[in-house]
Amino acid sequence: MKSFLPLNIRIDNKKILFVGGGKIALHKIKTVLQYTRNISIVSPEIQDELHQMGFEEIRKEYETSDLEGFFLVYACTNNLEVNRRIKNDAAAYGIMVNVVDNRELSDFISPAVIKKDEMTIAVSSNGENVKKTVQWRNRIKAMLQHGDFFTKSSEQHKKGYVYIIGAGPGDPELLTIKAERVLHEADVILYDDLVSSELVARFKALKIYTGKRKDHHHFEQEAINEEIIRHALQGKKVARLKGGDPFIFGRGGEEIEVLRQHGIRYEIIPGITAAHGASAYTEIPLTMRKISSSVAFCTGHPVNKIQVPDADTLVYYMVASTVQEVLNAVAKKGRDEKTMVAIVQNATRYNQKIITGTLGELRNSEKAVYSPALLILGENINQFIEDNWYSKKKKVLIVDEDYGIYASEDSIKVHFPRRQAEGADETMPELNESFDLDFIDEIFFSSSVCIRKFHAIYKSIPEKIIVKTADQEVNAEYRKLFSV
Ligand code: SAH
Repeated sequence: MKSFLPLNIRIDNKKILFVGGGKIALHKIKTVLQYTRNISIVSPEIQDELHQMGFEEIRKEYETSDLEGFFLVYACTNNLEVNRRIKNDAAAYGIMVNVVDNRELSDFISPAVIKKDEMTIAVSSNGENVKKTVQWRNRIKAMLQHGDFFTKSSEQHKKGYVYIIGAGPGDPELLTIKAERVLHEADVILYDDLVSSELVARFKALKIYTGKRKDHHHFEQEAINEEIIRHALQGKKVARLKGGDPFIFGRGGEEIEVLRQHGIRYEIIPGITAAHGASAYTEIPLTMRKISSSVAFCTGHPVNKIQVPDADTLVYYMVASTVQEVLNAVAKKGRDEKTMVAIVQNATRYNQKIITGTLGELRNSEKAVYSPALLILGENINQFIEDNWYSKKKKVLIVDEDYGIYASEDSIKVHFPRRQAEGADETMPELNESFDLDFIDEIFFSSSVCIRKFHAIYKSIPEKIIVKTADQEVNAEYRKLFSV
């Protein structure tokens, strides 16, 4: 097909007809409205918002004669046959027609438009690529808004720089060396739910929590995008820190899309995805010679999109509320009921927990699963995984300092935070928000001050926990406060 000829048509003294009274018509009319109000609508039903606009309404099914006297017609019904008829009728009348989302049937199409004072910029892909058209329009718009339409490359640095970084699954030591360096250099760190506050606290940048919380600070993806752009356009080095890997169910793709639109430079630093973290910390190889030669990463959310690919090992993300649905979908696909399943909660963290069973057993169990949790299914899961290397380590909560007395071969050190991190902004959750003592085997107090701080939050310590103190004086304080 040949290209469409771009024209600017005088429209204020002409009559425009819309056939269809639904969402599609509304969308088109909103654009046309900026140029003329000489609009009529033919449709048996007209949606409320459209009706409120007060155009001439002809409430009935479309007929050929409806076209009489109109200059342009927009065929906006959701019925291709009717749209086709309108096209043919219009041709007979010599009226130009736009059939929504159908450039083959259209005599004219609508470009994506930017209007500013007397200037109009219209972007068109000749109806071939709506998404690209809108992207270009937004990009040009952003360039205009920021007054740097003709930016030289030497001025690029003024736009800041964004790092999209994977923080790994939880264990703060699973951050890459590169991410570590960049986080030290960053001016701002925007971090998600799955990134621990303990990890972020080590860096001096301004920290902004963009996770989802029950209270007032709930960030939607769009607001996060805006926040990234806002800081970058101030010329800052922005670190966008996300759980796991940014490109595995991490919406990293959407974030760079927006950066591209704004002409902001960026790079991506991969992270260890939850599947790899869980696999290593529970001793489940994702592939194994002769047993499993393929692995698929899938999602259990939303429920109506659960896929069961034909792979030996299946890993499902986002399963906390959909375990049953996932397992049913897998069973329906014909997997043996005896196939082993492991659900790994809080993988690589001190509170890692594994639930195992066969596909058949777990389908009929009502065990509660809490987020973040991952489900792994396949022949590689042996019966010993609950007794894995990570579970054998003592989980020691270090309150302040550990003086190097715990060897890392035997223990996992969990650090009780000293204070609210420097540079924390108000959106940052309290560091000690959700410490789960149920998973702690031992606590080490290094000073009397820290015991008092700890006591202010936890009035008692579960009996099964062994408590150690740095010296006699600290011990005395511990006995006094906790009455032991
Ligand atoms: N980009 C992330 C995934 C984000 S989607 C990554 O690459 O890991 C969020 C899901 O990731 C959670 O619902 C959960 O299924 C999984 N997840 C993230 N961290 C996890 C952890 N420590 N333990 C278990 N599952 C985790």
